[in-house]
Order: sequence, then C-alpha cells, then structure tokens
Amino acid sequence: MLKCKEAVEKANALVDGAPLSWRERFALRLHLLMCHHCRRYLRQLRALVISLHRSPPNAASDEAVERVMDKLDSNP
Ligand SMILES: [Zn+2]
Repeated sequence: MLKCKEAVEKANALVDGAPLSWRERFALRLHLLMCHHCRRYLRQLRALVISLHRSPPNAASDEAVERVMDKLDSNP
C-alpha cells in the first residue's frame, strides 16, 4: 500500500503526462479507493490543471486530464 505522499507524487506525475507502469497505476488506484484525502486532492489537482489550461484555447490538455481520470476510474 502506497503512503499518501507516494500516491500524491504518482498522481502529480500522471497529471504531468509522465508514463506510469501498470503496477504504479494499480497501486495509485488502490490507494485512491482507500483514501478519500488523496481522492479529494486529485480532484482539486484536476480542476486546477483544467483551469490553468483554460486561458489558451487548447482543448487537448483538458482531454488529456479526462483520459487520466478515466484510466484511474475504470481500468480493471
Ligand atoms: Zn492517501
């Protein structure tokens, strides 16, 4: 089980577009299932990333974030 600090680091990497191994993503998802603090953190991080990317009309960044969230929510 990841510690919160490790989970946050991996979540940041994921939002930055860093490639994580399936093992890392699995560990992160598992942590997010157990830990509502990190779930809330990631939700706020996502909102922040979307708002940062909102000023230039660049929808791709928002879609990238959505894909990350989808991966976290729905992968087996
Ligand atoms: Zn946590």
